[in-house]
Amino acid sequence: MRVSGILKEFRGARALDGVDLAIHPGELIALLGPSGSGKTTLLRIIAGLDFATAGSVFFGAEDATHLTVQQRRVGFVFQHYALFRHMTVADNIAYGLNVRPRRERPSSEAIRRKVGELIELVQLNGLDRRYPAQLSGGQRQRVALARALAVEPRVLLLDEPFGALDAKVRKDLRRWLRDIHDRTGHTTVFVTHDQDEALELADRVAILANGRIEQVGTPDEIYESPASPFVLSFLGDTAALPVEIRQGRVLLAGEPLDVDPEGAAEGAATLYLRPNETALTPHGTGIPGVIAGLRRTVNGRRAEVRIAASDTPVEVEVPPDQAWSVSDRVGVHVLKARFFPAA
Ligand code: ATP
Repeated sequence: MRVSGILKEFRGARALDGVDLAIHPGELIALLGPSGSGKTTLLRIIAGLDFATAGSVFFGAEDATHLTVQQRRVGFVFQHYALFRHMTVADNIAYGLNVRPRRERPSSEAIRRKVGELIELVQLNGLDRRYPAQLSGGQRQRVALARALAVEPRVLLLDEPFGALDAKVRKDLRRWLRDIHDRTGHTTVFVTHDQDEALELADRVAILANGRIEQVGTPDEIYESPASPFVLSFLGDTAALPVEIRQGRVLLAGEPLDVDPEGAAEGAATLYLRPNETALTPHGTGIPGVIAGLRRTVNGRRAEVRIAASDTPVEVEVPPDQAWSVSDRVGVHVLKARFFPAA
């Protein structure tokens, strides 16, 4: 499916500003962006829950721009798209099939079979007679997914489906969703503001900012070759240092740095450093600095290094076996320098 030239205005304010995006059949694509970037608005326009001010939506060759939600045959799961409280798990899943007009409705035997298969798929065996209030948050979202899949949607639309769940459950459901996607092969659009979730889950990621797509690519492409300072800083902590590239050398406040310019153009630039693309070395090599703080993280530690001529401290990932202390004089060894021309 494909959206082309999508503009959306709410009382003169532009929420989407010319969005073009082709989604391949069977792929899982993540729409990633900060709050207010237009992710939900784009998803609602694909679903037919809202209509664009200008632009088109295509499902295959069919122009779906003016089709209703029902005609589009999409499935959705939202963060707070509540299940029907008075219906059992099985009845919730069967809902989309039960409400079909009689001539399109499968037989009750076929519906029962389908619900059984879906309960198996989303691993809720034995819970089919429970009511939503008797389920955990993660289980409820699995029912919501089964309900969305029951109608055999042409496109599956997920808007922060795990947003309200705790970190561990979120991670488990992420893997589980990827597994279900690989088995069922639905074309899926997944909205999230969580970088890890997008990179881990999706075949491709589209990054939105201010109603525009900044970059589309595989997780590796996006992470290894961010197309703009926005994408780079959005994907994780970075330190930004104002530098100058002169005669193939990188200067910070006029002093040469021990950093490869990596072919960046001469002139004023910003040097971006990622914690996992730098390392601490003994004083005398790398960019000289002083450790101002050390923090524990899940994988090791992070050092905050103050360097001369910069107000921005540089964060460096430190392996657990390295013993550094606050106030140590160190060098920041740059494994990968990333430059963009100064704004
Ligand atoms: P979040 O991650 O916070 O959900 P988002 O990226 O999904 O954000 P949208 O919800 O698509 O962003 O909103 C994009 C912009 O459009 C925002 O500035 C928002 O205030 C505005 N907007 C969205 N819906 C409406 C509406 N119904 N009326 C007016 N403005 C709206």
